[in-house]
Amino acid sequence: MDSRIILTESEMPKQWYNLAADLPNPLLPPLGPDGKPVSPDMLTPIFPMGLIEQEVSSKRWIDIPEEIQSILHTWRPSPLHRAFALEKALGTPAKIFYKNESLSPAGSHKPNTAVAQAWYNKKEGVKRMTTETGAGQWGSALAFACSLVGLECKVFMVRISFDQKPFRKMMMQAWGAQCVASPSTETKAGRDVLANSPDGPGSLGIAISEAVEAAVTDPSKSTKYGLGSVLNHVMLHQTIIGLETKKQLEKVGIKKPDVIIACTGGGSNFAGLAFPFVHDKINGAQIEIIPVEPTSCPSLTKGPFAYDLGDFSGMTPLLAMHTLGHNFVPPPIHAGGLRYHGMAPLVSQTVVEGLCTPRAIHQVECYDAAVKFARTEGIIVAPETSHAVAAVIQEAKKAKEEGKEKVIVFNLSGHGLMDLKGYEAFFAGKLVDYAMPEADIKKNLEAIKGFPKAEIRKTGKW
Ligand SMILES: *Cc1c(COP(=O)(O)O)cnc(C)c1O
Repeated sequence: MDSRIILTESEMPKQWYNLAADLPNPLLPPLGPDGKPVSPDMLTPIFPMGLIEQEVSSKRWIDIPEEIQSILHTWRPSPLHRAFALEKALGTPAKIFYKNESLSPAGSHKPNTAVAQAWYNKKEGVKRMTTETGAGQWGSALAFACSLVGLECKVFMVRISFDQKPFRKMMMQAWGAQCVASPSTETKAGRDVLANSPDGPGSLGIAISEAVEAAVTDPSKSTKYGLGSVLNHVMLHQTIIGLETKKQLEKVGIKKPDVIIACTGGGSNFAGLAFPFVHDKINGAQIEIIPVEPTSCPSLTKGPFAYDLGDFSGMTPLLAMHTLGHNFVPPPIHAGGLRYHGMAPLVSQTVVEGLCTPRAIHQVECYDAAVKFARTEGIIVAPETSHAVAAVIQEAKKAKEEGKEKVIVFNLSGHGLMDLKGYEAFFAGKLVDYAMPEADIKKNLEAIKGFPKAEIRKTGKW
C-alpha cells in the first residue's frame, strides 16, 4: 500500500456536506439578548448573505463555487498518509492514517474556510474584513485568503500571543493585513478592559468583541467580520477534509474506518474530518468518533451543554453549546488554538446525541506523543494537533492489547513550526500538567445562570 494517497484536482469534492440536514434532533437556535431566536437578517451587519444562508441551511449538500475550488487547488486535495513508521514503533496491528492539513500556505486547515469566507464577502461588495486571532493561525489564514481575493484585513491578536509570537504577526503583514494587539484602544470593548487591567494578557473572547465592534461601527458599512471556528458555516467549509479522506480510503480498499480522531478548540478541524463519518454513523456504520481537548480547557468533557455567549462582552448571540463560561480565562498552555471557552453548536449536539465521545488529555502526554510522531513520521505537529496524536497512540495501544487490526484516521490539523516555544518548554522539562479544578469551573458558570436553559435532546440510539 502507498504511504501517500493522492487525489487529482478533478477528484476534489465539489460540494460541502451539511450535517444539520441529518442530525436526529435539530440544532437549538441562537438567541438574541431578549431570549428570542436570532433571525438571519439580524446577522447582516456582521456577515454577507451567502454565509448567513449557509449558517441556517438544512440542505445536505452545498455546491462549492468554482472560483473557490480553484483557489483551494493552491494546496488541495491534501494527501492522506499511512503512518507506517509510527505503527511499527508502536508495534500495533492498527492501521493509522493521517490527513495532512499542514500543507496549506498558512500551515493549517483554517484556510479552507478563510478562502470561502473572503470570497463570499468580496462577491457581496465588502471591502474589508476584521477578525480576532489567538495563537495567530486564524489571523494568518484570513490574511492569506483576503490577499488572494483582494480584501483588506484587520486582525485583533490576543496580547499574550502578540508578544510571544512575532512570526505569525509577520506572516499577516506579508499577506498585507494589519495586526493589532487586543485589548486595544481602537474599540470601546478594548478600552473598557484596559481601564480595569492595563497589563492583562487578553483573551479570545475579548478579541472577538473588538473585531465585531470594529466591523459593525465602520461608518462606510463596508467592513464585515469573519470567525475561524464554532459557527455552522465554518464547519461546513471544513467538511472537504472528511469528504476527501473518504475517497482516499476507498482508493486503498477501506470501506469504513473504525476510529476517527481530531483535536477540538472551537470544533472546526474535528467537524471537517468527522462530519462525513458522523453521517455514516447516523446511517448505521459502527465508528468511534473522538474529539480530543486539553484537560486545562475541558469544555466537552467538563462543561455543561448550555446557552452562553460566544464572546466576553456580549456582542454575539447566545449559542447552545458545551461551555466553561464566557468569562473563562484559560491557563496559558501552549496549544493556543484549544483555549476557547465554548464549542461549536453542531459538534456539541453530536456529543449530546452520543455520536461522538470526547476525551481530555494532559499536555505532557501530548508533547510526548508529538515528539514520537516527529521522530517516526517526520512532521512536527502543532501543539493543538498533538492532542489528536496522543489519542491516536492511546487507541493504537488499545488495538494492540485487543489484537485488533483497527483502522484509525486522524486529522493532522497543522504543523508546529511557528509554535516551537512549547517544544522548548517540554524539552527543558518545564511543562506541567494542569487540570481545571471543578470548583473553578462551577464558579465561572455562575456567569451564565440567568441565561435561557438549553434543552438536552437525544434519541438514545448511540
Ligand atoms: C485553530 C487550530 C485548531 C483548533 O481549532 P478548531 O476550530 O477546533 O479546529 C487546531 N489545530 C490547529 C493547527 C489550529 O490552527
